[in-house]
Amino acid sequence: PVRGTRILSVEGAVKRFGGLVAVNDVSFEVNAGEIIGLIGPNGAGKSTMFNLLTCTAPMTAGKVRFLDRDIAGLPQREVARLGLARTFQHVKLRPQMTLLDNVALGAYARTGAGVLKAGLRLDRAEEQQVLQEAQRQLARIGLGDRSHELAGSLPLGTQRILEIARALAADPVLLVLDEPAAGLRRKEKMALGELLRKLREEGVTILIVEHDMDFVMKLVDRLVVMNFGSKLVEGVPAAVRADERVQAAYLGSVV
Ligand code: ADP
Ligand code: MG
Repeated sequence: PVRGTRILSVEGAVKRFGGLVAVNDVSFEVNAGEIIGLIGPNGAGKSTMFNLLTCTAPMTAGKVRFLDRDIAGLPQREVARLGLARTFQHVKLRPQMTLLDNVALGAYARTGAGVLKAGLRLDRAEEQQVLQEAQRQLARIGLGDRSHELAGSLPLGTQRILEIARALAADPVLLVLDEPAAGLRRKEKMALGELLRKLREEGVTILIVEHDMDFVMKLVDRLVVMNFGSKLVEGVPAAVRADERVQAAYLGSVV
């Protein structure tokens, strides 16, 4: 999509768990080429919103439009095939496999071929193509010369970056990241931030759900702030940081 065009819109999203309204009529948009952050204090509804917009959990009400299709209720595999890639808060790599094979697995998300097919029935040419693409993605994130190491041997920060490469191998239109900086050391956070900025330069659109305010403020073009399930504020980092309602929400929380 052309930079600036709308690729995702969440319209009046609601999620109830019994009597609790975890997401209460939230609407926002994501435009091609931007990094947008979804933040808020603990319990604000960020993870629930993340699950709704990636179709990981059913919505109580509302719509999610991705590239002009209503994707709410679609199976994960279908959503991935349309070009929406996500990572997980807890790393989901295969530790006993090489970096290259981990990333290669990601390449199948877009083609729809299952892991079994990937392992057993791809013809040689197809397999070569997938491995080449995986190698290209590893080079893109600066791990090109370590492709045959085991994923489990990497420090956490590098595993997070590898997860992003795996998501990129599916050639996504939108990359949705769930707390990518959680648990990382300062240097690892800096490396991650640098990578995400580079990806934006290359035209990747990124939605990042993040708890770490400092990390997110330096990175994003725009922020959506949630509190008690509702959208509190939306705007550029400087405006959000200065907003009294945001300060009050964060001060009132345990973080
Ligand atoms: P955040 O990610 O911003 O910390 P969550 O989306 O995890 O917030 O949670 C929002 C609210 O919804 C919280 O009050 C939480 O306890 C509640 N909640 C989240 N998931 C569930 C669930 N599966 N069942 C019941 N309540 C839930
Ligand atoms: Mg959460």
